[in-house]
Amino acid sequence: MMSIESSGEQPGVVCPGCGGSDIGMAQVRSAFFHEDRLVVVEDIPALVCAGCNEQFYDDQTVVWLDLLRGAGFPTERARDELRVPVFSFRDCLMTEAET
Ligand SMILES: [Zn+2]
Repeated sequence: MMSIESSGEQPGVVCPGCGGSDIGMAQVRSAFFHEDRLVVVEDIPALVCAGCNEQFYDDQTVVWLDLLRGAGFPTERARDELRVPVFSFRDCLMTEAET
């Protein structure tokens, strides 16, 4: 199970994945590519389906994410920074060929 904080069902919301209506709220973290940058947004209020674990956002959250993207995910509004390792699949193939 995922460690999500559930606060009850959301009436009238249907899962786009399986059509189920047992939908709860959770705070999720998601990564977005914006031009050449990778940005992470935390504490996104997401709707989570109890049936298939599909995560989706309500209209208001989508608008808010669009606004943030439209602003170019301004660094001065970021709470924190992550260093992320970058891998190339090409390296995997080369390692495979050497052995
Ligand atoms: Zn579902």
